[in-house]
Amino acid sequence: MRECEYSQISTRSSTPMETPYKKRTPKKRKWQLFPGRNKFYCDGRIMMAKQTGVFYLTLVLILATCGLFFTFDCPFLALQLTPVIPVIGGVLFLFVLGSLLRTSFSDPGVLPRATPDEAADLERQIDVANGTTGYRPPPRTKEVVINGQTVKLKYCFTCKIFRPPRASHCSLCDNCVERFDHHCPWVGNCVGRRNYRFFYMFILSLSFLTIFIFSFVITHIILESHRSGFLSALKESPASVLEVVVCFFSVWSIVGLSGFHTYLISSNQTTNEDIKGSWSSKRGKDNYNPYSYGNIVTNCCAALCGPLPPSLIDRRGFIQSGVPQIAPPANGIPMYGSTQSQQSHMVSESENERQPPPLSSSSKAPMVHHHFLTPEEMPSPPGMLPCGSPMGHSPMGHSPTVQAGFYNPASQDSLHEDSVRGLVKLSSV
Ligand SMILES: [Zn+2]
Ligand SMILES: [Zn+2]
Repeated sequence: MRECEYSQISTRSSTPMETPYKKRTPKKRKWQLFPGRNKFYCDGRIMMAKQTGVFYLTLVLILATCGLFFTFDCPFLALQLTPVIPVIGGVLFLFVLGSLLRTSFSDPGVLPRATPDEAADLERQIDVANGTTGYRPPPRTKEVVINGQTVKLKYCFTCKIFRPPRASHCSLCDNCVERFDHHCPWVGNCVGRRNYRFFYMFILSLSFLTIFIFSFVITHIILESHRSGFLSALKESPASVLEVVVCFFSVWSIVGLSGFHTYLISSNQTTNEDIKGSWSSKRGKDNYNPYSYGNIVTNCCAALCGPLPPSLIDRRGFIQSGVPQIAPPANGIPMYGSTQSQQSHMVSESENERQPPPLSSSSKAPMVHHHFLTPEEMPSPPGMLPCGSPMGHSPMGHSPTVQAGFYNPASQDSLHEDSVRGLVKLSSV
C-alpha cells in the first residue's frame, strides 16, 4: 500500500514539470503563414488585400461628406423641414458603412492552396492521364458539363489546384477566389462569392445616400438663397458647396456601377464573365449562361438571399506541428482539386467506384456526399446532369427540370459547394 502511494507521488511530481514548459511554446495561427498577399488584422479576424490606400480614400470621402452633411445641413433642414431627414440620412449612412466594412474585412471566398503532398499527387495523376512519355500539353484543363454547357476548369500553377467553375486567380491578392467577380481597390478586397452581396448592398445604398445628400444639400442652398440671396447663401455655407461638388462627381459612377451590378445579378453573371463575354444573354444560343436560373427574380434571390458558404481557409486555426503548412480547410470541408485525399484514386476510375474514399477530415462533415462523375455516368443525351453526380445534386433527384437540362435552382448551391470540395471527377485531364 505504501509503495503504491509512493509511485503515485512520483508520477504526479513529474507531470507538472513538463506541462507548463509545453504550454509556453507559442502556437502560430494559419493566417500568420498564409501564402497569399493579404493583410490580416485583429489576430486574423480581419482580412484585406495588401494595398489598402484607395480603401482609406473611400472611407475618408464617405465619412467627410456625411460628417459635413450632418454638421452643417441637417440642423437647418430639421428645423425648416422635418427631423426625419437626419434620421433617414443616419440610417443610410450606417448601412453604407456596415456593408463597406463587411465587404472589405471578410474572406471573399479564397480557395486554399494544395499542400506539397496533394500537389505531387495531382502531378502524378496528370502524368498518368497524359501518358508516361513525359510530355505534358501546356494548357492543363478539365472539362465539366453544367446544365448542358461545357465549362473548362483551368489549372492554377500558383495554387496547384484545378479551379472550380467561376473561380479565378486574383493577381493582386495571389489567391484563387470562388465565383470571382473582380478585385475592387475601392473596398480594398477581392469581390467574390462570400462578399459579393455585401458589395452590392454597399454600392446600392451608397447610390441612395449620394442622391439623398445631393438633393437635400441643394434644398438647403435654395432655402438659404430665398432668405439672403444665392451668392450670400453659397458664402454662408461653403461646406454645402463642397458636398455638392463631391456628390455631383461621384454619383454618376456609383449609380452606373449599381445599375451594372443589378444587371449582372439579374442574369447571374460575374463582372469577370461579362468582360470576357463568356455567355450570351439568350438561352437558345450555344453559349448560354449555365448558371442562370432563367428567371430574373430567382437570379436575384440566389445572389442576395442564398446561403453564405463558410470560409475555407480557416485563417484563425492553429498550425499543427508535422502537418503541411498550407492550411487545411475549415469545418472539416476538404480542399478543392483532385489533389485532395478523396481523389487520390482518380488514376483508376473503376477503382473509384469500388472503393470508398479514404478516411479524412471530410468524413466528419455530414453534408458531404461523395459521388464522382464517371464516364459511365456522363449524361446521354449530352449535357444532362446525372442524379447524384457533383454537377446534379438535387433534393428532387431526377427531377424533370434536371432531365430537361434546365438549371435546377435547388441544385446550384450544392453543385458549387461540391465542386469546391473537389468532387469533380472527369474521364480525362
Ligand atoms: Zn490560384
Ligand atoms: Zn484581389
